[in-house]
Amino acid sequence: MTYQTCINPTWCPGCGNFGILAAIKATLKELKLEPHQVAFTYDVGCSGNMADFVNAYGFHSLHGRALPVGAGIKLANHNLPVINIIGDGGCFGEGVDHFIGLSKGNHDMVVLTHDNFLYSLTTGQKSPTSKKGTVTPSTPDGSIDEDLNPLALALINKATFVARGYSNNLPHLTKLLKAAINHKGFALLDVLQPCTTYNKDYPPLWYLKHIDYLDDEHDKTNFKAALDLSLKKDRLPVGIFYQVEKKPFHQHFQLLNNKPLVDHSIEKIDISKLVNQLT
Ligand code: SF4
Repeated sequence: MTYQTCINPTWCPGCGNFGILAAIKATLKELKLEPHQVAFTYDVGCSGNMADFVNAYGFHSLHGRALPVGAGIKLANHNLPVINIIGDGGCFGEGVDHFIGLSKGNHDMVVLTHDNFLYSLTTGQKSPTSKKGTVTPSTPDGSIDEDLNPLALALINKATFVARGYSNNLPHLTKLLKAAINHKGFALLDVLQPCTTYNKDYPPLWYLKHIDYLDDEHDKTNFKAALDLSLKKDRLPVGIFYQVEKKPFHQHFQLLNNKPLVDHSIEKIDISKLVNQLT
């Protein structure tokens, strides 16, 4: 099986997106998922360019709209694992209402954020996760507002799987992505991703010095412990912060209990009354 398309990535040399792409391919291989057995959505941004590089079902959405498309795919065919590829700007800026709503509903899908603290495709403007004081083309005197915390946001909005990874540690990221796909519910995997072109404040060496790997002693079901970890500022813990079981959104519909929507017959459905109301 190959997940490779005929198009080679156009990302800048050293970009963390290469590591994320490699981890995705390694994970799909380990889970023995054929290209037709998994669906991706992509947002707009450098991360979204991955739509050209992965051979699998995919939908390249508009700014901040990847997540509702993913939720729709899942409701149409809940046997299909859904992975949403989105940047920090799309997920926590333009699309943050979708993130919050779908997290609260426990929609069964992975939200894989390429978090580089900037809008990089448009030449490095401030994003919701930029630290206060960050100098960018859109904030030449330093950003005034505080940064948004993706993990804390997911936790307080009832996400049932919350993890942080690092793009340049392939084995660790692969393990996290595997766990996120296997989780039955809303899974945030926030991936720290160096933008080597526009975010010179956070080169790969910076991450090496600031990342801590969570060990087995961390209790993944302890909400308070997970929230405390997410609020750490001086160090960046990576691993699974939180994971609990809860009935996913689609399982609340009796219609979907026996088979996915896509397998239901539409022959006896008459929509003429509805059409007549609209015309
Ligand atoms: Fe990667 Fe940054 Fe280049 Fe975009 S601009 S491809 S995020 S290094």
